[in-house]
Amino acid sequence: MLSRRKILKQLSTLPVMGGLFGSAAPLTTALAAPTAAPRNLVKELGIRTFINAAGTYTAMTGSLMDDDVVNTILASSKEFMMLDDVQTKVGEKIAALTHAESAVVTAGCFSAMTLGLAGVLTGMDQKKVELLPHLEGSGMKSEVIAQKGHSVGYSHALTNTGCKIVQVETIEDVERAINEKTAMLWFLNIQADKGKIMHEQWVALGKKHKIPTMIDIAADVPPVENLWKFNDMGFDLVCVSGGKAMRGPQSAGLLMGKKDLIAAARLSMPPRGSTIGRGMKVNKEEVLGMYVAVEKFIARDQDKDWKMLEERAATIANAARSVKGVTVETFAPELGNHTPTLRIGWDPARVNLTAKALQEGLRNGNPSIEIVVNDTNGINMTAWMLKPGEDKIVATRLKEELTKASV
Ligand SMILES: *Cc1c(COP(=O)(O)O)cnc(C)c1O
Repeated sequence: MLSRRKILKQLSTLPVMGGLFGSAAPLTTALAAPTAAPRNLVKELGIRTFINAAGTYTAMTGSLMDDDVVNTILASSKEFMMLDDVQTKVGEKIAALTHAESAVVTAGCFSAMTLGLAGVLTGMDQKKVELLPHLEGSGMKSEVIAQKGHSVGYSHALTNTGCKIVQVETIEDVERAINEKTAMLWFLNIQADKGKIMHEQWVALGKKHKIPTMIDIAADVPPVENLWKFNDMGFDLVCVSGGKAMRGPQSAGLLMGKKDLIAAARLSMPPRGSTIGRGMKVNKEEVLGMYVAVEKFIARDQDKDWKMLEERAATIANAARSVKGVTVETFAPELGNHTPTLRIGWDPARVNLTAKALQEGLRNGNPSIEIVVNDTNGINMTAWMLKPGEDKIVATRLKEELTKASV
C-alpha cells in the first residue's frame, strides 16, 4: 500500500487535480462567447476604492499594474504551458536585464527571501528540500547573520526555513559569530544607514568566509540602477518586490543571483510539492506579467517621471501651505520608497485638528483619499500612486479639511 506521503508526492507531480476528476461537461460553458458586460464587483460587494496619496502599501493593494502587464496576463491566460518552462525563459530574460547570472519570479520579495535561503541550505539535495524547515540532525546549516539595525518583521521570511537569526553590530562581531552553522549573511537595504557595516564590507565578509550574502531591496527601486547595482557588487542573492514601483503583479517579486543558488531555490518552488515553498505559487500569467513590468520599468524615462511626481506633489504642497499655520517639507527618502514625499504639519493653535482626524476626514470624504499619519502627529503624502489629475482633487480636499479646522 502506498503511504500517504507517497500518494501526496505523486499527486504533487501531476499537472492539475482536474486531470483526475475533471469531466468534459464544463467545456461547453467555457467555450460559450461572453455576452454581458463584465460584472462590477467593486460595486456589487461594496468595496471602498480610494485615491492613493500614501504610497505602495500592501494593505492598500500596493500599486496599479501597468496596462501592458494586465494585457499580458489576459493574453497568456488562454493557453497551457509548463510552469518550469515559463520560469526558465522569463528568468533568462530578467537575469540579462539585471546583470544577474540567473533569476526567477517569486511570490513577492518575502518569498524570494525564504526560497533563496532554502536554496542556500539545501543545494541540489532533494532529501534536504523535503526536510525543511526541520534542520536538526539534517546536516544543514541553521544560522543567518544580520545586523541589529536591520531587524524588521520581514526577517520572518528567513526564520520560515527553520534558521535562527544571529544579530551582530560590528565586523568583529561577524567574525566571532561565524561558525560551521552559519548559512548566510543577510543585508536589509532600506535600513542600511542603521547598521555599522556597509554593503561592500558585507559582501567582502561573505567572500572571505565563503558564505553566501543576500540583500533585501524590496522597496528600493527607484533608482532603477538598484536592479543591477547589487548583482554587480557581488551579493549572491538579491530580492525585490514586483508590485511596488515596478507596477508588476502585487503578488510577484524577483529572486536574482548565482546560477547554482537559483537552481537550488527552484527545488523548493511550485510545481514541486513536499517543499516549504509549495504555497508560494506564482501563476504563468503573473510570471509573464512580471517580465513585462521589469522590461517597461527599465525602459522608462526616470527623469521625466521624477519631474512629473515633483510637480504633482507641489500642487498638493502649495494648497496645504495656503492655509495659515500649515508647514510643508518636501523630501525624498534616500533609502526605500525613493519618491518626492510631503511631510505636512500644523500649529494646533491655528489648525485645531489631530492627524488621525484629518486622516478620517479624507478617508470618509468623496472621493475617499488615503494618506499616512507620521510620527510627529502630522501627515505624509506622496504623488507616487496618483493617477493624472488626482493631484488637484487631493489638493482641494486637503485644503478644505485644513481650512474647516482653522481657528
Ligand atoms: C515590502 C517589503 C517586503 C515584502 O515584499 P513583498 O513583495 O510584499 O513580499 C520585504 N522587505 C521590505 C523591506 C519591504 O519593504
